[in-house]
Amino acid sequence: MIHEIISVGILDCNCSIVGDEASGEAIVIDPGDDIERVQEILARHNLKAKYIIATHAHIDHVGGMAKLKQATGAAVVMHEGDLPLYQMLAVQAEWLGVDAPPVTAVDRFVRSGDTLRWGSIALEVMHTPGHSPGSLSLHLPGDGRRVFSGDTLFRESIGRTDLWGGSYGQILRSIRETLLAFPDEMPVFPGHGLATTIGHERERNPFLR
Ligand SMILES: [Zn+2]
Ligand SMILES: [Zn+2]
Repeated sequence: MIHEIISVGILDCNCSIVGDEASGEAIVIDPGDDIERVQEILARHNLKAKYIIATHAHIDHVGGMAKLKQATGAAVVMHEGDLPLYQMLAVQAEWLGVDAPPVTAVDRFVRSGDTLRWGSIALEVMHTPGHSPGSLSLHLPGDGRRVFSGDTLFRESIGRTDLWGGSYGQILRSIRETLLAFPDEMPVFPGHGLATTIGHERERNPFLR
């Protein structure tokens, strides 16, 4: 399995490319910006993107989605709860003082329990609302097991809940009930900043004491 992470856009969103060598299929998680660099990585590994997955619809995670979809033909996937936020992309761009990126159609809405498959890899979808109504976390089981936590859980912090649709009670419940259910060794790749593990967060995250 290939997993490359690049920091994209002015808010340094972690964009992950996860590829299956045997089939040449890949997914891209949170292509917020810098789509040329995403395409470079896909090309370098000879990968074709099958899904573009948004952990949630904040502009720093979805700003490059339309461009990447146009370039690759991959299907755009998100939780329906964040569709209003995605449709507000121009408003979000205004808040940040950047040009509004194009919006594309969402090809597939997913919810807790759904599985996305490419090559021999299967990714389990978990709905972890609180940072936004449709925030997702993604679990990749097996040998290369890991969790993508979007802006729900960060290393020693959690996502903000003061933006549209946010809820402090909900984010804590999502983390406690869904993410902390994983074993301590589980690696976690957040939407911003450094990777961590469930055990590190259980012990050190000041919001989870
Ligand atoms: Zn966010
Ligand atoms: Zn973010």
